[in-house]
Parts: sequence; structure tokens; C-alpha cells
Amino acid sequence: MIIVKVGGSLGIDYDAVCDDLTTLVRAGHQAILVHGGSAETNRISEQLGKPPRMVTSVSGYESRYTDRETLEIFEMVYCGKMNKNIVEKLQRNGVNAVGLAGLDGRIWEGPRKSAITIIEAGKKKVLRDDFTGKVERVNLKLIHLLLDAGFTPVLTPPAISYEGEAMNVDGDRGAAMLAAALRVDRLIILSNVPGLLKDTQNEESLISDIPFERIDEYTVFAKGRMKKKMLGAVEALREGVKSVVFADARRPCPISEALAGRGTVIHGKIEPQ
Ligand code: ADP
Repeated sequence: MIIVKVGGSLGIDYDAVCDDLTTLVRAGHQAILVHGGSAETNRISEQLGKPPRMVTSVSGYESRYTDRETLEIFEMVYCGKMNKNIVEKLQRNGVNAVGLAGLDGRIWEGPRKSAITIIEAGKKKVLRDDFTGKVERVNLKLIHLLLDAGFTPVLTPPAISYEGEAMNVDGDRGAAMLAAALRVDRLIILSNVPGLLKDTQNEESLISDIPFERIDEYTVFAKGRMKKKMLGAVEALREGVKSVVFADARRPCPISEALAGRGTVIHGKIEPQ
């Protein structure tokens, strides 16, 4: 079983990702593709006159402030355009892909955080009416139904709250929870960088190998959105996934390259908590 998360940043080559996934599925692997759509959502939000509002939480993590209108734009892009474009590419390649959001069949479920405390201009501020949350539980029934019938699921946020509301969640952390629930050995996280860099301006500064017990020494290098990816990796490893690979989705065969260990490999078998 192969679980791949592909981001939504500029530069990602979705054709390369889908073609590589096709090769692996043809070779007999079951696969699930989880995807984002941040850059496209930002572009379309601007066009709709509702520019994105990125906020930084008190603990230093960046996220998209998601009021109801933003949530609906988010759904149009993630579950609509992005998801269906990927499904179309896979279908054209002969892979029987099915697009899903985490709220379908309650695949990604968790608590909604309707108020968030952010730091703005050095001051604390509470934002209400936020439709964001965290994947706490993965319900695999629909996923197994599809995999057993030979389909390839293509999964994207939003998730569903325990009360049944759609909510924006971090795709990397969702993929981590999915990988843990399916007990896969490896989670591949593709983005528009070669992996974790010591210096974001220098792609030669790639950190290729991180043993789990030394992860704290490396998380300091992750800035902005990379911080959440590191958090997702830690969660996956804590839950029993044996390795997480961050790799480059701007290149041909990005999944095979990640499987071959190119990128940043975070590994370490530790006892689940
Ligand atoms: P995606 O949308 O593909 O999931 P993100 O944009 O959320 O990816 O995260 C990847 C981004 O994180 C990179 O484009 C880069 O600008 C940023 N980043 C911050 N710190 C680092 C780092 N140390 N190494 C690599 N990328 C980093």
C-alpha cells in the first residue's frame, strides 16, 4: 500500500505525480493519493474578491482563516477543480480513481476549533466563526470498500467535525493519520522543495536523513508551512508509521524517487504512545 500526499504549492507537476502513481498501480500496488490546493485557492479567492487571510497561531503555526464563505471557496477548488483534475489525469491513464473529500463517509473526523487565538502585529487576538479543526479519527470503511473493489481513492480536505460540519484541516496531518490508521510502513509527502532544507534559499542544503530521536535538532530549520509538515511526520511516526519521506514533486517520477530514498527521510521505529 502506497500513501502519497501531494501539496498545493506552485511548481508541483501533477502530471508527473499521476503518471508515476499509474506505473505503481499497474505494477500491482494499492494506492491512495491525498492532495492539497493552496496556491490555486489563493488565486481563485483573489479573483472572487475574497483574498486569503493567513493567520499565525500563538504556538507559531500558520493556517488559513476559514469563515463559511472561505470554506465554500476552498471546497470549490479542493474538492472541485483540483480533485477532479487529478481524477481525470488518472482516469486518462487507465487508473480507476475516485475523488473524495475527508467529509465523505466521515473518513477524516475530529473536533472543530471555532475560535482561534492568533498573533497579529505582536498582539493576541481571538478569531471566531472559524471552520477549521484537526483529524483525530480516521474511518476506513469507505476506503476499504473502494480499495477492495479495485478503485484508487484521491482524498482531499475538508474533514468533518464530530457535529457534522465541514472543516478545513491540514492535509499533511490528515495524510499522517490515514497512514497510521492503515498501518503502512511509509508515508510520502511531496511538495515544491527537495525536502527539508537547512537554508530555504539553497536547495543544496537538503537534509537527507533524520533519525526520529534527533528530530528536535532538525525541526528548527522548518519555517512557515514546513512546520506543519514536520508536525505531521512526527504524528505519523508516533502512531507507528516507520518512515516519512519529504520529496520533490517538480521532477519526473517523484513517488519512485521518494521510495528510493531521495529527499528527506525521517525514520525510526518507536513504540506507539
Ligand atoms: P504544500 O502546499 O506543497 O503542501 P507548503 O507550501 O505547505 O507545501 O510547504 C512547503 C514550503 O515550506 C516550501 O515551499 C518552503 O517555502 C517552505 N519551507 C519553510 N521552511 C522550509 C525548510 N526548512 N525546508 C524546505 N521548505 C521549507
